Amino acid sequence: MTLPATTRFAPSPTGFLHLGHVVSGLYSRIMAGESGRFLIRIEDIDTTRCTPELTAALREDLDWLGLSSDEPVRQQSRHLLQYQAVLDILRERRLLYPCFCTRREIADAATQTAPDGSVVYPGTCRHGASHADREPVWRLDMGRALDVLQQVPGWQELGRGRIAGQADAFGDIVLARRDTGVSYHLCVTHDDALQGVTTVTRGRDLYEATSVQRVLQELMGWPEPVYAHHALIMGADGQKLSKRDGAEGVRALRQEGWTARLVLDHPLVRQALAASFIPADRRPDR
Ligand code: GLU
Repeated sequence: MTLPATTRFAPSPTGFLHLGHVVSGLYSRIMAGESGRFLIRIEDIDTTRCTPELTAALREDLDWLGLSSDEPVRQQSRHLLQYQAVLDILRERRLLYPCFCTRREIADAATQTAPDGSVVYPGTCRHGASHADREPVWRLDMGRALDVLQQVPGWQELGRGRIAGQADAFGDIVLARRDTGVSYHLCVTHDDALQGVTTVTRGRDLYEATSVQRVLQELMGWPEPVYAHHALIMGADGQKLSKRDGAEGVRALRQEGWTARLVLDHPLVRQALAASFIPADRRPDR
């Protein structure tokens, strides 16, 4: 028996619900178990890509599928002040600094790539910079942060054990973007802590991001959840999901006459779940 977990499915409504989301949502629901809590959170801080129409469509599709949150759905764009408060704390602790570099300037000066494939910031503005005509982004001084923590935090990956963190290889990541004033890493860790998420479930594409998120949790004194990264869905030919495979979205499948049950049981969904870690007592009898 495993203890009851609180899990969450945290989609960003940048498009319609697709089979990849179905895997994530279902995996999260399964990992919560019978007696756990399953939460849905809408991660819509990027207001240029996430529109109210897409959010409404996403929620409607989830309702149709019967994937419902055990608590009211949290929508990140409604809580921006809470994230700003975290930034203020980190700023006061001199763990953030403003950076005025353009993308181009960074690309020209950068020499390293982070474990997630992003460019490592070369540190140009770390020791002070200002620019009259440019709005800054705010970066975490990773060196300072790791000095404060006196360790590079790792994490517990269900089915695999303790994983060594690699936050030092990410460099000074952006915590407050120029356009939105916040960032994915900031909001996701804040909300996981606020909502009492014990088991972070999500796709393997976000495995590397865990290193960075663990640093924020430790700096803020937030609890350490365990992680379970599920296998990603693949097209029938092992390649990127194609329209024929259902990449056009749940809505389109529904229009073609698929029932919710059939979508949840889609061979590609089953395949991804079969390749993911699920404790024996949580495996659905299907
Ligand atoms: N909102 C993120 C996404 O849709 C997922 C965040 C997470 O699960 O940590 O990719």
